[in-house]
Amino acid sequence: MRRGLSHDLPPGSRVGLTTTIPVEVVLAAGLVPVDLNNLFIASPHALEWVAEAEAEGLPRTICAWIKGIYAALGHHPEICAVIAACQGDCSYTQALGELLASRGVAVLHFNYPYPRQRARLARELAEFMAQVGTEPGAVAAMQAKLAPIRQALAELDRLTWETGQVSGRENFLWLIASSDFEGHPDAFAARLTAFLQAAAARPPSPEGVRLGLIGIPPIFTDLWEHLEELGARVVFNEIPRQFSLPGGHADLTEQYYHYTYPYDITLRLRDIARAVTQRRLQGLIHYTQSFCFRQMYDRLLREKLRVPLLTLEGDRPGPLDSRSRMRLEAFVDVLR
Ligand code: SF4
Repeated sequence: MRRGLSHDLPPGSRVGLTTTIPVEVVLAAGLVPVDLNNLFIASPHALEWVAEAEAEGLPRTICAWIKGIYAALGHHPEICAVIAACQGDCSYTQALGELLASRGVAVLHFNYPYPRQRARLARELAEFMAQVGTEPGAVAAMQAKLAPIRQALAELDRLTWETGQVSGRENFLWLIASSDFEGHPDAFAARLTAFLQAAAARPPSPEGVRLGLIGIPPIFTDLWEHLEELGARVVFNEIPRQFSLPGGHADLTEQYYHYTYPYDITLRLRDIARAVTQRRLQGLIHYTQSFCFRQMYDRLLREKLRVPLLTLEGDRPGPLDSRSRMRLEAFVDVLR
């Protein structure tokens, strides 16, 4: 795999992200970040892409997100490089990176230190800046530029749980898009401002059963809408909220040190417990992905969080299956 690719990637190059990494660094280098998960799941061909990756030899027994990312890149040859986070995200990413490299895709790396450690994170950030060809001053300026967008996303989140003027689905889509700001932060900020103005003019939404959605982003396409049909509302999208880096830290290392997703589960437990109290959550849905190592956290989440919890497993992209729909219905009925 190649490292130190600054001279290979002219400004404006589109660079794929396998997960949320310090996007400030990518943007400061003049590159255009593309979250490959979002690219995959937003495609009307997402299901076919998973089958396509399997036809190319990726096993049935690995997670569909990995296969979707792999196939998505085949359909987007304009994405000339990928930033893979093997440590702190997913070990499948390591093999994915090697497969992509063998296909001629340039692969850069960013690793979240595990266990979490400030000094190691600072070193990783410095190494990452060197790889993409930027420097701390430019990155700090980019971080300051993104800060008001992150604040606006925090306001959007507040309008979800406090007043109900933003739906759970809208909340999810906006927060999840903050991993790459759709490649163009200025355009993203303009759209977000317009959305917030429209949302603030809506009447507050009537109360329903208040739910939190925890775990990796679901591969189901209609989860939020189905819950609303049942009279429940998702007022906490745990991981998408984390993608938006809501801590308000002015220092880049601090910002990614307080990001809960890539480290051990302690930080996540604290964050979820806080949300349960502040957002008056009546229940949690823990989404797990088939063949994902993160399924093992289910036991700890059940043990440590004192709130009713339903575990929902998904495999391939598409709408909820009938069994999952029935389980959600029963869960909401019990909570009501
Ligand atoms: S769902 Fe799990 S296995 Fe799949 S990419 Fe994400 S972390 Fe990796």
